Amino acid sequence: MSGGNPKPRIHYTKPSITELEIRYATDAAANGWGEHCYDYIRRFEALFREHLGVKHAIATSSATGALHLGMAGLGIGPGDEVILGDINWIASAAPIVHLGAKPVLVDVLPDTWCLNPAEVEAAITRRTKAILAVHLYGNLCDLDALREIGKRHGIPVIEDAAEAIGSIWHGRRAGSIGIFGAFSFHGTKTLTTGEGGIFVTNDDALYERVLTLSNHGRARGETRQFWPETIGYKYKMSNLQAAIGCAQMERAQELIAGKRRVFEYYRTALSGLPLCMNPEPSDTVNGFWMPTLVVDKDAAFDREALLAGFQAENIDGRVFFWPLSMLPMFRQHPQNRVSHSLYRRAINLPSYHDISNADQDRVIECITKLVCARQ
Ligand SMILES: *Cc1c(COP(=O)(O)O)cnc(C)c1O
Repeated sequence: MSGGNPKPRIHYTKPSITELEIRYATDAAANGWGEHCYDYIRRFEALFREHLGVKHAIATSSATGALHLGMAGLGIGPGDEVILGDINWIASAAPIVHLGAKPVLVDVLPDTWCLNPAEVEAAITRRTKAILAVHLYGNLCDLDALREIGKRHGIPVIEDAAEAIGSIWHGRRAGSIGIFGAFSFHGTKTLTTGEGGIFVTNDDALYERVLTLSNHGRARGETRQFWPETIGYKYKMSNLQAAIGCAQMERAQELIAGKRRVFEYYRTALSGLPLCMNPEPSDTVNGFWMPTLVVDKDAAFDREALLAGFQAENIDGRVFFWPLSMLPMFRQHPQNRVSHSLYRRAINLPSYHDISNADQDRVIECITKLVCARQ
């Protein structure tokens, strides 16, 4: 802190909560019990199906849970391999490990920070059971290339769309295109229920398997009480959380537009600096969950100095995800050169929906001071 009164804190994310969320949550707390204990959950699932354009949705307690259920539903288990990008949040990899399978970490593309299709194809073995396409920070994976590779090898593509609400690939919403999709409603995400997630699919058989797994192994239509037919999971969203989710879904377009406004303001202000931000290739829309800058390789940049500069100005900046292959539980793999070069040059910027232009200007001023072309 630079002495005197600290400037007001600029958080990196925070939810947008209005009277509507409060009204629905209050109603759920007062009335959402007994025969009404699933009302908001059913409504939330219906609103989400409609938003995404998918046949089936199962609300969950987290995206991690949705991924775990979906991969269990695909029969992924011990000895199997699932391919994903090296730069990722651990939540995408953990369910693979929980199922006894192996995450195979491949390099990402320098412009989208998502899976490099050529690296995916090179990593396929007899044991590969799925390709996990994570749409990082709202950026889209090349779904056409990945699905083409998947088709050729008989391997499904899963979409981790936890960060990709509002992102659209050639007219179809992220999360609706792979064999299944998973979303997160954690407090830092574009839409929130505090904690929460959802599993979505257009595949009827997979939906039925996941529905049974999600209900502690009890099949729909089973007439015996307390009669599981298999060992399942318990990753449910509560009616109280779903009530907040219903309000967020009614405001989805507004919340996504807020993220896009914040991104555009940064992009315009930072356009003269030697850096790249989240891309938006033609015929796609980026939901811009997290405005992120990656400084050019040949520019003068010290990530720690920028973070310290933010801290002095009471701004909450965050580092890019680490390559998973740097973490102690995975095999080191510095051969993933793009991943191991990206993270050191990158920073996430504060981006809650109603951040003011004046607060964004404070962030921009810090960056402008500390990112410069090498003389
Ligand atoms: C947030 C996130 C998750 C995990 O979501 P939870 O709801 O916290 O389980 C998974 N994958 C990605 C890409 C995420 O950003």
